[in-house]
Amino acid sequence: MKVPFLELLPTYLELKDEFDTAYKRVMASGWYVLGKELEAFELEFANYCGTKHCIGVGNGLDALHIILRAMNIGRGDEVIVPSNTYIATWLAVSHAGATPIPVEPDERTFNIDTERIEAAITERTKAIIAVHLYGQTADMDQINHIASKYGLRVIEDAAQSQGARYKGIRSGCLGHAAGHSFYPGKNLGAFGDAGAITTNDDELADRISQLRNYGSKVKYRHDFKGFNSRLDEIQAAFLRVKLARLDEWNKRRGQIAAEYLSACSTLRGITLPYVPPWADPVWHLFVIKHPQREKLQSLLLESGIGTLIHYPYPAHRSGAYEGEEDLYDSLPTALNLASTVLSLPIGPHLSSEQVGAVLHCLETSLCKI
Ligand SMILES: *Cc1c(COP(=O)(O)O)cnc(C)c1O
Repeated sequence: MKVPFLELLPTYLELKDEFDTAYKRVMASGWYVLGKELEAFELEFANYCGTKHCIGVGNGLDALHIILRAMNIGRGDEVIVPSNTYIATWLAVSHAGATPIPVEPDERTFNIDTERIEAAITERTKAIIAVHLYGQTADMDQINHIASKYGLRVIEDAAQSQGARYKGIRSGCLGHAAGHSFYPGKNLGAFGDAGAITTNDDELADRISQLRNYGSKVKYRHDFKGFNSRLDEIQAAFLRVKLARLDEWNKRRGQIAAEYLSACSTLRGITLPYVPPWADPVWHLFVIKHPQREKLQSLLLESGIGTLIHYPYPAHRSGAYEGEEDLYDSLPTALNLASTVLSLPIGPHLSSEQVGAVLHCLETSLCKI
């Protein structure tokens, strides 16, 4: 049996009639940007996250970048980021003109090690970006505690965590503002690029909604040098259809993760993801570790099981930060994770047979190593 790492088509097929209806409704409306669909989605997603505001933007990178701009964070400022994350977290800081200061992860949760944050704070530090990597929230009480002690802003990178909870509170509502990505492969994915920002801060929300639209509130009046980063009507309409299914789909991811966790607990050589008691993850990815990751990946591929690596290089070694080595020492934990992690297939449309096939092939592959 073949199990591809990720398939997007089954989502469309499951709800084809609803997507087609949404498409026709938007096309026939004659209005394609900043209209009723986006307003409705923003309201629905804010309700879902439990925040006062949601502002749709073009993608997840823009969401983080615009939050930083709205907070007036830029040249000369430092922003604490995890060393283990997708490069977008770092790039948002760089594009704002500030410097990303990496903090190593906790090896068990993959998320930022809150014990190491204080040592990275200087008088230039303005904010901490907490990434909820692989669908599990970072330890937000610790992060918020440190941030209030030093007067820092807390920004969530919630690109991988739509629906995840921390001590019962939804991701997107755990800091001063959160950036979301609706890239097609995310838990709440559009059929193209899209993103959003959630926040409870009225003033910040106001600035953000101007920033995404040329810094303008009144047509042809530009209060500042804004961007063009809008979530269009068609994607908003599709996202509304999917948002109604998000909890159900996250639940299915949880069932698969539970199956993987219990079946793999007896397998030797692999390290399973750790879920702290306060976490309620949504399993964007199911990431295991193995010292011979390449070998395991190719054996799985031979038996038809697709896997991916998130991520093969930490941001500071990915190329974009070349020449800035003096700023970034080796970051050994991030490097170690980059060479040992492997993501197994997981998603709401993976059948029980496919999950069984992954587990069977994992067991037989491990015997050959
Ligand atoms: C996907 C992702 C982003 C960026 O989202 P885009 O919509 O692709 O710009 C940011 N941070 C993390 C952790 C992500 O996984």
